[in-house]
Amino acid sequence: PLDSLLEILDNGALSGARSVPVLMPVALDQTYDYLVPDGVEVPPGSFVLVPFGPQTRIGIVWDGQRGDGKAVDPKKLKSLTSLIDAPRLPEISMRFAEWVARYTLAPLGMVARMMMSADAAFEPPKHRFGVRLVEGAPLPPKMTQARTRVLEIAADGLIRVKSDLANLAACSTGVIDGLAASGNLVEVAIPERVFPRPQPAHATTDFTDKQAQAVATLVAAVDAKNFSVTLLDGVTGSGKTEVYFEAVARALEVGDQALIMLPEIALTSQFLDRFAQRFGAPPVEWHSALSPAERGRIWKGVARGDVRCVVGARSALFLPFVQLGLIVIDEEHDQGFKQEDRVHYQARDMAVVRGNLGKFPVVLASATPSIESHVNALVGRYRHAVLPGRFSGVAMPDVSLIDLKAEKLEPGKWLAQRLVGAITETLEKDQQTLLFLNRRGYAPLTLCRACGHRLECPQCTAWLVEHRFKKKLTCHHCGFSLSLPEKCPKCGEPGTLVACGPGVERVQEEVKERFPDARVALLSSDLIPGLAEMREIIRGIEAREFDIIIGTQIVAKGHNFPGLALVGVVDGDLGLAHGADPRSAERTFQLLHQVTGRAGRTSFVGRGFVQTYSTDHPVMQAIVAGDRDAFLNYEVKTRQSGLLPPYGRLAAIVISARDKALTEVTARDIARRAPQSEVISVLGPVEAPIAVVRGRHRWRLLVKAPRDVDLQAYLRAWAGTIPKLKSDVRITVDIDPYNF
Ligand code: ADP
Ligand code: ZN
Repeated sequence: PLDSLLEILDNGALSGARSVPVLMPVALDQTYDYLVPDGVEVPPGSFVLVPFGPQTRIGIVWDGQRGDGKAVDPKKLKSLTSLIDAPRLPEISMRFAEWVARYTLAPLGMVARMMMSADAAFEPPKHRFGVRLVEGAPLPPKMTQARTRVLEIAADGLIRVKSDLANLAACSTGVIDGLAASGNLVEVAIPERVFPRPQPAHATTDFTDKQAQAVATLVAAVDAKNFSVTLLDGVTGSGKTEVYFEAVARALEVGDQALIMLPEIALTSQFLDRFAQRFGAPPVEWHSALSPAERGRIWKGVARGDVRCVVGARSALFLPFVQLGLIVIDEEHDQGFKQEDRVHYQARDMAVVRGNLGKFPVVLASATPSIESHVNALVGRYRHAVLPGRFSGVAMPDVSLIDLKAEKLEPGKWLAQRLVGAITETLEKDQQTLLFLNRRGYAPLTLCRACGHRLECPQCTAWLVEHRFKKKLTCHHCGFSLSLPEKCPKCGEPGTLVACGPGVERVQEEVKERFPDARVALLSSDLIPGLAEMREIIRGIEAREFDIIIGTQIVAKGHNFPGLALVGVVDGDLGLAHGADPRSAERTFQLLHQVTGRAGRTSFVGRGFVQTYSTDHPVMQAIVAGDRDAFLNYEVKTRQSGLLPPYGRLAAIVISARDKALTEVTARDIARRAPQSEVISVLGPVEAPIAVVRGRHRWRLLVKAPRDVDLQAYLRAWAGTIPKLKSDVRITVDIDPYNF
């Protein structure tokens, strides 16, 4: 329809016209001015089509000019092409985008692009048409059986797509057309589906005293209509979800929108069911598995305020909420909240910023809080709501270490005798076992017995991982893959290649050998075609259709398997190996705690075994003792003495190029230009731990600053001294880097 897409073609009316600044969703920080014809209103936040270089692209009318400030000759300005029929970007989203850009040093246009990650929202709405009965219309003279069937079905007055109605009546669409021609059916637009409204008072919970206290804290924070952060801290099963649902209910009750962020949203059908039980309607989900049309519909629904509650992955933070009044981040410690491409950001931290801008509370929930949040609660920057025990009253699982230095594995086997014994007992009791190994595939390394050659990726500094089911060797960094060779590619000897080390497929092989009668499920993202299949397997595990579950980290998070009694961690040391990463101990602790905590959630005490060569490591000690605070104290001291986050600030700068020498020369040149500073130190440049990825060589600089120093200002000043780069060279800056 014409009035929905306003064409501005009359360039003749432009003399002396106004102009507006437009931000483009590209890697640029500045706005560009465009002329607006008389009589046309394009308030800030409007989405407009503009000529941009050789193309016409969508941009956002910004509420202020940004950029180099050079005045442009008004005669050279181009005019807007058209105004797009989409809800405007709320002002607070603009402020948020500017904040994120300033903090992450990403161009504002790239942040704006994240906010526009629903192309269909900016396309003209597609109306679907259907037919419905015209009541009281005289029947056509010739009534066939097919016509009678169609009219009988249509008698309910519903609007149906023609082909659907034809299918129901087992006739051709020609019959439908005939009845439309005779005036008995009429073609009408199918109304857009409305979003179900969650009802704050749909169901109630009787809370324990401790839970009620936490509920009161959170509800008071919502009622205060002001910024605050609360760490909701309690073991798995203590009722954190139940408790923060009350905060969500209150936000909805007072007319605010609410956002719940989860790390593995796509897999959490259990969570969605619980939400629906509590609120009488499912939440709106936001994650990468949605169809483009769904994304568009939800984007608009959020901007119009029709969507009241979103449950989403980290990208949901950039939806155009008009009335956001609460953000809950569940599993706040999870690494999945850190985005490491394009705009590098930590969604948990940016959610806190969003709360501050919007003057509303943010709730961080976890059983194993991040060191950052723990310290913030400790010093009183965050409020602290604690749930001390499981609601069911069942004790935490009994976790033991299996010292692989003493209890040697049989050659070619990966499960120690003690773990095998525990699995046997568990099977006898008809209970479930979970074996966790965070490594996809069959074996992480293949080498030649004759010449010692290791099979490496031609484009990355990485071994090729054998995937036996797919009969392939694959690089987990770039996806390169090749069929399993019959002979060594180096020395040509046939039959000398051997698999070294275990992946989940190899553990499954051993399990099938040792327990041939057990029903085994293998959960690894590369072996399961899609979300629906994954949800189906998880449902099967819940329904106890499997005895032994073998999985990567997708089984570690978020699920509640009532029959699970035993958890075995095949390689507890796997995460500790990351040399320079200051978060490796924290991450390993969290993962081991979460995964062993899957055992015995509801009616019996579970058991956990962690196979390790590092029994003395503080992480392992805290895991066996079930002493989370011991670990937190140890880790806080380590961070404090090393001036690591949150006691110091870090930024990683990665310089990459196809040419090895060019990469190094550029990295050294950039390092030389670092501004002098008494307090900020620049470490490196050194080759990145994975020195080559997808054929690009990588060198890295690490910048360390005390907490109270404006690291971004320092980096911006530094960037100003760097000459134009050779075309193939890329620099990425990662503030608060996680993996390096
Ligand atoms: P968490 O989020 O801390 O892991 P949940 O909120 O999932 O804990 O609670 C664990 C289990 O206990 C869930 O099945 C939940 O329904 C139940 N539960 C927790 N608190 C209550 C309560 N006050 N009344 C009834 N059931 C509860
Ligand atoms: Zn590779």
